[in-house]
This record gives sequence, C-alpha cells and structure tokens, in this order.
Amino acid sequence: MDIYIYNTLTRQKEKFVPVDPNLVRMYTCGPTVYRDVHIGNYRTYLMADFARRVLEYNGYRVKKIQNITDVGHMRRNETNPEAFDPVIMAALESGRKPLEITQSYTEQFLADNERLNIQPADVYPKASDHIEEIIEVVKELLNKGFAYDSGENIYFDVKKFKDYGELSGNTLTKMEKLLEAVRVASETDKTDSADFVLWKRVDPQYLMKWDSPWGLGTPGWHIECTAMSLKYLTSVFSDRLPDNRIHLTIDLHTGGEDNIFPHHEDEIAQSESFTGQKFVNIWLHGGHLTVEGEKMARRRGNVFLVQDLVDRGFDPLSFRYLTMTSYYRSKMNFTWDSLAASQKALDKIYQLVKSGPAPIQHSDPSYAKEQVLIGCAEYEQRFLEAVNDDLNMPKALAVVWDLVKSDYPLSAKKASLFKFDKVLGLRLKETSEKPEEVPSGVLQLVEERENSRNNKEFARADELRGKIEDLGFTVEDTPKGPKIVRM
Ligand code: AMP
Ligand code: ZN
Repeated sequence: MDIYIYNTLTRQKEKFVPVDPNLVRMYTCGPTVYRDVHIGNYRTYLMADFARRVLEYNGYRVKKIQNITDVGHMRRNETNPEAFDPVIMAALESGRKPLEITQSYTEQFLADNERLNIQPADVYPKASDHIEEIIEVVKELLNKGFAYDSGENIYFDVKKFKDYGELSGNTLTKMEKLLEAVRVASETDKTDSADFVLWKRVDPQYLMKWDSPWGLGTPGWHIECTAMSLKYLTSVFSDRLPDNRIHLTIDLHTGGEDNIFPHHEDEIAQSESFTGQKFVNIWLHGGHLTVEGEKMARRRGNVFLVQDLVDRGFDPLSFRYLTMTSYYRSKMNFTWDSLAASQKALDKIYQLVKSGPAPIQHSDPSYAKEQVLIGCAEYEQRFLEAVNDDLNMPKALAVVWDLVKSDYPLSAKKASLFKFDKVLGLRLKETSEKPEEVPSGVLQLVEERENSRNNKEFARADELRGKIEDLGFTVEDTPKGPKIVRM
C-alpha cells in the first residue's frame, strides 16, 4: 500500500517514493545539549519515530541520523540577532567545562529516548566532531561564489540562491520588508540582512573555537546540519556509496515547525548550492507542544522533562500515547489531566494484553483453522490505511479501540495489537510477558486457597476465590500450580 506524507516544501500530501528502494535515508534535527531536552522536543522526536516505524512497518529499511548540537552557536532573536543563547551562556557560566555539560545532557537525552521507546538513530553525530566537513562545505561555497567574507565573518549570500524562501514562503522580497524594521547595528557587515553566518570569527579567549582557513572561529548553526546530513546520508564526502552510485538527495528530513525558518530554509540554500542537486525530497514538520497555549520552551520556564512525569507517577510511555491522540501537525496543549487520561487508556491496553493466553503463532498448525485471525485482518487493514495516510495516529488509535471492543477472541486481538505495536511502540509484548505484580494480600489468599484445596475443603476454597476476585484477581488452576491473573 502506498504511503502518503505531507511535505512542507510542496504544501501537500505526497506519495512517498525513496530515492533508493532498498534504503530510506532520514535525518532528524537533534537537541542542543547545553540544556535539558523537554517533552516539547520529544513530541517532535516522537513524530520522527512514528515516521520511521511506519516506513519499517511497510517493509522499508531505514537509516536514521540525528545530530547532537554541542557547539555553542549563536541564535538570532528579535532584539539581538547575533546574541548567544542565554541558556548556553548560563550553562557555561556555571563553571563546568563545555564537554562536561554536553556529555551529561547527551546521556540524559539518550536515556529519555529509551524511556519513550524511540528507536535509536544509526548515528548520533556531534557537531564538534565535524568541523573538518563544515570547513570543506564553506570553502566550496566561497569558491562557487555563494558565500562571501565580510572581513568579520563568512556569510551565505541568499540572493545567489534563486529558490530561497521556497520552503517557508519567506521570499526575499517579503523578507526585505520585515527585516527593514529590525535592521540592527551588529549586522552592518552583511551585504543583505537575510544573509546568514557560515563561519564566525571569534577571539582567542572564546571557549569553543577551531582553526580554519579564515582564522579562529566557530560554525554557524545551519551549516552543522548540512555537513552532518550530507556526510552520513549521501555520497558527498565518500565519493561513492558502496554500490558505486553517486547519491545526493535525502528522502526525509524532520523537525519542529520552528525549524522551517530560518534553519531548514538555510540548510536547503547551502546544501543545494554546494551539491548542485536537490537536498531533501520530503520535509516533515511537527506542531508545537504548548502549555496554556504558549509554546513549551526553556526560556519561558514552562518546560517539563520526562523525569517530571516519572516523579508524578506516570509511565513515560503515557506521554508517547498522548502524542498519538492528536494529529502531528496541530499544536497540542499539554495538561496533567490529558496525561492521566492517556495513562488510563494505556493501563487498559496493558491489562488486556496481560490477560488470557498468548496469541496463536502463524507457525501453529491450528492457525489455518483459526477463522478469527482472518477477522482481525480487517482491523489490520484499517490500521495500515490510517498510518500510511500521513501518519494519522489518532485514527490508528481509534482502530485499536474498535478492535479492543470487538467480539473477536482475546488471542486474535492480542495478535493484531502486537503487530500494531511495531508502530505504536508501547511495549505491549514485553508488558504481556512481565509477571503480574500481585499484592501480598492476594498472594496470601491464593496460598490459603491452595491449602484448602489440598485438604479437600472445596467450599472454603471457593469462598477464598471470591475474596481474591473482590481484589481484582482470579486464579487459574494449571498443572504447574495456580496462575494469578488480573481481571
Ligand atoms: P531546539 O533544542 O530548540 O533546537 O529544539 C530541538 C527540536 O525540538 C527542534 O526540532 C524543535 O523544532 C523542537 N521543539 C522545540 N520546542 C518544541 C515544542 N514546544 N514543541 C514541539 N517541538 C519543539
Ligand atoms: Zn538541523
């Protein structure tokens, strides 16, 4: 079945056709590791994970690269376009060395990925390890006349790139008007206000600096992603792919909606000027997670971390579930109540998969006779249609609940749910196999009941079964002894 994804570049849903039928190449803009990665960031990373899982569900092999931004680059803001990110400054001022800071936040990022069951990327390249490639790209852009040295810094000359603005709609004519209003003194070395930094010269006392043909400096933010995505997903730096083909276009590039401009617009300008080929076929952007209607952002002080959810007694996967309840491109307002509702829904599914026998395997000879599994195929079809239609996870969840409420036998439902979980990522199989955590009171009653049965006091044993059921559990008598199951 075809997969459709909304492409920010063409502003429409497009049939997904990878450049190479055997391998999908995707790139996800990664975190800045001078600060905590919050659940707003994770909403975007979860979207990328759903995309990757849907592709794999359809039989594609996916190579996913997610960078780690560990260079304390400048970020524009409205009042001071060349200012340092204040959070990075605060981290550095805490007296810790850059490497110490970035290492501890990177470790936390990877641990939280695992808690949210985000499949690991093939490589997590660090910007600081790719200065050589960055310099190579900047050199070539200068050679080709797409960049200039202002005497202070190296800038990309946006007027030289005719498609500038195609992704975001911020064309140069439109921007000219906007930038007129915010032109500031520090930008006077640029030819055009829309030009952006490729390489910034810095003073020797500056912490993160590298040697370059243009003296000591530090890279611009956008050039990092160009260098790393081209390095790991194209043949630019390796001449040829193992199959001896030149490959310059990436299939899928993801990020949050704030990445569209300037970050991704600038990535396109640099990369296409550098390679002379299309950079990315499909641009996938997710809507923001908000709190009381405001974007969740470190600077606003309205962020929550995965650990905050755990501290309040939530399973991190309840947040994964929550992100599936709304369409990925819409904004989503985070509340503790909505998280609690997701946790409740998740617990219900867990109870279902933990109860009853394990699903019948395809290799089981009785499978062919098991008509019910054919029945579930209709839900499997609907599920596939939902996820292949621009990652429609709310619709996919609706299929899950329709299946749960259906009349199909438990083992057939579980078989389908375990398949769906390749996309949902809720660890359903793992949870179903986990031994039930049984309260000690129930265990004591079960033991008493066993003693009664051994003493042939069956009336007493039945009475105890009733008490066990009152506590939400039931006992199945198996040849191996009593099996306690949550009702
Ligand atoms: P940053 O560290 O700010 O570069 O953000 C890392 C990723 O998270 C980027 O793809 C952003 O677009 C995304 N992001 C940042 N804030 C939010 C938010 N509140 N909701 C969703 N995605 C976000
Ligand atoms: Zn990026």
